[in-house]
Parts: sequence; structure tokens; C-alpha cells
Amino acid sequence: MNIEKTILALEKNNYEVSFFKTSEDAAHYLESKFNDEYIGFGDSETMFHMNLFDRLSLHNKVVDPKHCGAEATFRDTAIKCLTTDIFFTSVNALSETGEMVNIDGTGNRVAGSLFGHKKVYFVVSTNKIEPTLEASIWRARNIAAPGNAKRLGLKTPCAVKGDRCYNCSSPDRICNGLLIYYKKMNNTDMEIVLIDEKLGF
Ligand code: SF4
Repeated sequence: MNIEKTILALEKNNYEVSFFKTSEDAAHYLESKFNDEYIGFGDSETMFHMNLFDRLSLHNKVVDPKHCGAEATFRDTAIKCLTTDIFFTSVNALSETGEMVNIDGTGNRVAGSLFGHKKVYFVVSTNKIEPTLEASIWRARNIAAPGNAKRLGLKTPCAVKGDRCYNCSSPDRICNGLLIYYKKMNNTDMEIVLIDEKLGF
């Protein structure tokens, strides 16, 4: 995997890119960047690993469907995340040619990543880098989605067998939409926080 080529391609596609050797360095960078901000989260195992919700909540208002508590539903919290000033999420794959790919089941993660915020941050580890867009789509479908299905304890063939996507019709299917980010969306600042570790799926 060619990290330098990936960063240059993402910058050419109008993204800001911050590169960190460790997730701790990246978490510290993000922690020190925000104060008294209104931040929404999309689901991300990488962000969960970095404990970003707790760290940012110390001095910001952070809403996360994973932390909706007893008084709010997933849906209500996810809708709030669509109207925050800042949005944080990840992607399932990114390519050395500068595209990114995300798969979503409910749509809150991809919806929040496209429009409505002043700035969107994609927190991504280098193990998600593939040489081409086609390989990124394959990775999102056959590695990331089965890994997430297993993590969530879903009853899908990919979670049970753990080897690839079976394009299932399971009620638990999490692959209902696939989004390709060819370039940064207009009118929204977007930054890729790239971490040179193996995180997420
Ligand atoms: S379509 Fe079904 S089998 Fe394929 S990755 Fe998604 S949940 Fe798993």
C-alpha cells in the first residue's frame, strides 16, 4: 500500500489530510482541536477504539447513536447527528487513486457524511487503503461489511462464515447502500484523519 500516493490523490480531490503514526496521536490532535463544539458521530469501530466519544465529550456536546441512553431512541439521536456543526465518521475503504467507499444499512452514517455540516472528519486507518476504486468496493463488500456484521452479532451468512459477502437477503443485512466519494462534496469542508495502524474492519 502506498500511503504517500493516497494522501496526494486525496488532496488532489480537495480533501484536507492529516497523517498520524498512531491512533493516540490522532486522538490527541482531535481532542485539542475542538472546544465547545456541537459534534455528531456516525458509527465507526475505529473511533470507538480511540475512545473519541468520551474524549471529545469532556469539552464539547457530542451526540452518538451508540450512546443514546435510555431516554432517546437510535432514530432520534441519529437525526440529531445530521444537524450538528461537525460530523465524525469513517469509511470502509479508500483507494490510492483518491476515492473512498462506504456501505450503510440505516443510512445515517452516509447521510451525515455528505451534507449539512460545516466540516466532516473521516477517521481512517491505513489498512483500509486499496490500489484502485474497484478493489476498494471489493474490500467494503467482502471484508468491512462481514467484519461489521460479525461485530454487531448479526445473523447474516457473512457473520456466521466470516469469509466473504453472500449478497444475502437476511433481515439483518447491513449492506443496503454503497456510496462512492469521488471527490470532496461542494460547500462542506472535509478532512481525512489517516492513521498508520490496523484499526476497524
Ligand atoms: S450483503 Fe449480507 S452477506 Fe453480504 S456483507 Fe452484507 S450482510 Fe453480509
